[in-house]
Amino acid sequence: MSNSREGIGMTSARTRDRLVQRLKDQGICSCQVLDQIRNVPRHLFVDEALASRAYEDTALPIGFGQTISQPFIVARMTEALLAGFKGKSILEIGTGCGYQTAVLAPFIKKIYTVERIPELLKKTRKRLESLDIYNIQFRPGDGWEGWQKYSPYDGIIVTAAASMMPEKLLQQLAPNGRLIIPVGSKGQQELQMVINHHDRFEQVSLGPVSFVPLVKGR
Ligand code: SAH
Repeated sequence: MSNSREGIGMTSARTRDRLVQRLKDQGICSCQVLDQIRNVPRHLFVDEALASRAYEDTALPIGFGQTISQPFIVARMTEALLAGFKGKSILEIGTGCGYQTAVLAPFIKKIYTVERIPELLKKTRKRLESLDIYNIQFRPGDGWEGWQKYSPYDGIIVTAAASMMPEKLLQQLAPNGRLIIPVGSKGQQELQMVINHHDRFEQVSLGPVSFVPLVKGR
């Protein structure tokens, strides 16, 4: 087997099918999410040296001390965000290498995404454009602040763990919108879903997770 990207591409149909089967076995039921995980070339989001491991259900390093999320978690968060979704705009905090962004892109009219590390954001913007994904607006900045300008958002997804619920994100969530966010400290994080019911927020825990921290300050 060749080591070139093409070689990896040729073997990946089978490995991607295996990954999708594993996600199904773990309880991901949404066909649209499973199809999209099969479609997105995850090997193009990690370093070439790690490309052969891209379809394992595991987090991998993406440089700058950050990681690409585990496919199961990406599927779980996407499924939770899109269940009953009728809106147009999503705010994503923690762009990273853009894998979660790419998984969401075909389902959402416009994704606004905020990343703390400008160099990482620059690379990711190029990568997503090279995959013909254009419905994304990028911003280097602090995710704790959200992105006031285009708020409120029909959905918000945070892919780094917040030490507590970020007040600004709740304020930028549209009525009926949902926020998917890992909350807690190392070893004790829970994935939370918050639904804005006009007069109150409903919070549901979706189980334990392990993310890099949502860093405070720049
Ligand atoms: N969504 C990515 C995973 C990103 S890892 C994927 O699909 O694989 C989490 C990302 O959050 C990192 O890139 C990190 O730099 C970023 N991050 C951490 N704290 C942040 C903050 N306060 N504001 C914005 N981005 C932040």
